[in-house]
Amino acid sequence: MTGWGAANGHPLMLPAMRSDPRLGFNTLAERYGYRSYLCVPLKRGEEVLGTLEVVTKETRRFRPEERDLLAAFAGAAAVAIENARLFEATRFHLGQLEEANRRLEELDRLRREYLRNVSHEFRTPLTVIKGYAEFLLEGTPEPASFQEIMRVVLESGDRVIDLVDTLIEVSRIEQGDAERSLEIQSLDLGQLALASVESLQRFAAKKGVLVDLDFPEERLPLEGDEGLLHQVVRKLLDNAVKYSSPGGRVVVRGRSRGEELRLDVEDGGIGIAAEHVPRIFDKFYMVDGGITRRQGGTGVGLYLVREIVRLHRGTVEVESRPGQGSVFSVRLPRLHLSRQPEARA
Ligand code: ADP
Repeated sequence: MTGWGAANGHPLMLPAMRSDPRLGFNTLAERYGYRSYLCVPLKRGEEVLGTLEVVTKETRRFRPEERDLLAAFAGAAAVAIENARLFEATRFHLGQLEEANRRLEELDRLRREYLRNVSHEFRTPLTVIKGYAEFLLEGTPEPASFQEIMRVVLESGDRVIDLVDTLIEVSRIEQGDAERSLEIQSLDLGQLALASVESLQRFAAKKGVLVDLDFPEERLPLEGDEGLLHQVVRKLLDNAVKYSSPGGRVVVRGRSRGEELRLDVEDGGIGIAAEHVPRIFDKFYMVDGGITRRQGGTGVGLYLVREIVRLHRGTVEVESRPGQGSVFSVRLPRLHLSRQPEARA
């Protein structure tokens, strides 16, 4: 009978409910001694939200005024229910809005910090170059010091170029059709790793960190964009050395796993506290990003790693223990998307 009331949207008055064919639960009505029934719909406009019902144990012929009174009450109840629903929905949306706002504020804070850090990262090597240039202008130093000066100038120049390259690559992978701009070619993961290790060897040696390669297979062929994949290994390796203590050891491992290759960069450095792990791949995110930070950096390295790996349809993850070290693991499909079996199908 409730169903009938709801479906029809009209009041229903039954002096003898037990004999009505619409009654579905005769035994219940009999057990509780129900006899008469009045039902009015709870309506919001044309939509029926439910019903409001009165049952009596004595036989009663409901009067039209009683029906109208119950209908008026149902109208007020429907408004109250609707208001409660709207209130809930508004509160939910407000919560979402507050969360979005909080994220925007956080992003804004990180962006400001990033600008400050990038400026600082540019300024440091440029100041070194300028200082040595002024020194050389004043006179000719001994050949040995001259060599040392030129080495530092070169290293500082490399740092500036590295920064510019990173910025260019971030803007490249953020453009709309980044995937199409990939320059896919046949590569060897071992060669890529070796090149990265060689380019960072001096930095590692200066810090007293040993870098080892562990590639048991002679070749680990894969298809990808050489420049970008080189950046992936370089950034992971650079971080591994940067966040290691003097005397530490970094291992770069390469393995083949069926259709994919796996690259692990393991260090025994400072590690990453669990609360930071989900965010370190976010753009601009740095664990210790304040101006008092101990290490240089701009917070876009791991973001770049994740985006490049994604463009190659791979994944990157990290396992880390504070004080014990971290392992960053990259998985890459051997074949580029255009030649993977699903893409061919
Ligand atoms: P940054 O320029 O600061 O190195 P990244 O995006 O490369 O930026 O890294 C983000 C943050 O992740 C770093 O600020 C650092 O705190 C943390 N991190 C990255 N790699 C390591 C690592 N190997 N060991 C410890 N912390 C790391």
